[in-house]
Amino acid sequence: MIRVRFAPSPTGSLHVGGARTALFNWLFVQHARTHGPDHDATFVLRIEDTDKQRSTDEFTKVILDGMTWLGLTWDEGPLFQGAGLARHQADAHRLLDAGTAYLDDGAIRFRVSHEEVAWEDAVHGPIAFHGKDLEDFVILRADGTPVYNFAVVSDDIAMRITHVFRGDDHISNTPKQILLYRAFGVPVPVFGHVPMIHGTDGKKLSKRHGATAVADYQHLGILPQAMVNFLALLGWSPGGDREVFFDAAELVEAFTFAGLQRSAAVFDPKKLEWMNAEHLRSLGAERVAGLIGDALAGLDPARAVALVAAVLPRGRTTLDVAHRARLRAGLDPVVFDEKAAAAVAQDEAGYRTALAAVAESLATATDWTAPALDIALRALAERMAVKVGTIMQPVRIALTGSTVSEPVNELLAVIGRDDVLRRLRTAAGA
Ligand code: GLU
Repeated sequence: MIRVRFAPSPTGSLHVGGARTALFNWLFVQHARTHGPDHDATFVLRIEDTDKQRSTDEFTKVILDGMTWLGLTWDEGPLFQGAGLARHQADAHRLLDAGTAYLDDGAIRFRVSHEEVAWEDAVHGPIAFHGKDLEDFVILRADGTPVYNFAVVSDDIAMRITHVFRGDDHISNTPKQILLYRAFGVPVPVFGHVPMIHGTDGKKLSKRHGATAVADYQHLGILPQAMVNFLALLGWSPGGDREVFFDAAELVEAFTFAGLQRSAAVFDPKKLEWMNAEHLRSLGAERVAGLIGDALAGLDPARAVALVAAVLPRGRTTLDVAHRARLRAGLDPVVFDEKAAAAVAQDEAGYRTALAAVAESLATATDWTAPALDIALRALAERMAVKVGTIMQPVRIALTGSTVSEPVNELLAVIGRDDVLRRLRTAAGA
């Protein structure tokens, strides 16, 4: 029987690091259900709300929402640490009665035995602390509230936790916790401390690095399955070069603690975007159009799918795909990016001339399909004795505000004749 827990403190939103800890616990449980000794594994969610000043119901909700969005289902809970106060107190008194703790100014202080404290960490291998480096520590304050390390051990014992997977930043707490397990005379769980997450500059991930909350990425148009895929690879590797897992079940299958790395993982938002794009494309235009239905409301469904199909190869997030599709549908205004503005500024007269010529020439086009438009544009460039790019790039800029897009003939085809001619004429100032 395997029992793990994720124990967030509701003193902030669910951040990338916490979500990754939750994910590793979840993957471990799911994997154990099919491959473990008795196929019995349970994921407990415990909200560590003992810091009453900083804990809020709102943060608890944000954490649960974030886990739900990622698909990280729990089997028991949410249990609240604060609800265990009577047990924390009773447990402290048990140690007092047993003589492994003593009264000190109204508080209960744990007596540290000066033996070595060592454990086989599931991530780091053997770790040892010398008992002489630890001092007797308070477990129950004079006001009757437990200290953090004590509440955690009391809870983990009560919840029959067999494996504790948490961030590296808790390594220094573990010797104290192991001594408490020994004092209670119960088996010590397996500990595994997962590496910290750094930004691309090698510094510990923080707000300076931009968005770090899971909810931020949700609102930026990242797919939950892409986020899960990305988080799983922050400090874990399935071995080999494989990075993209479209299905969480494949991650579950591949997940073992042997693949966990000891050194810090690097959080690269560019890589997350890349991975998200892979997931978007694997869904296909129809499903992505469904996901961004609100942004495309009012469009004929077949047209919406065609627009999404046109922009999907370059779309990075659902927001990005929605915006690119809306731009082509004429629902969002064209705004020049820096490169486009600079390109136009370089030769504004040439830009307008090219647009006017294309509009005039395409006004008589009989076949408004991508292949026919390509032929028409090339013929026009030849007649004007200019390179194809000389007329294509202004068209691309005028219609998208950007210097990169799908091939211009495809762009014209998806926007449609009437809109193209109207927009080109307006942009040409004709
Ligand atoms: N509540 C602790 C935290 O958020 C986790 C404690 C643990 O996993 O043992 O960092």
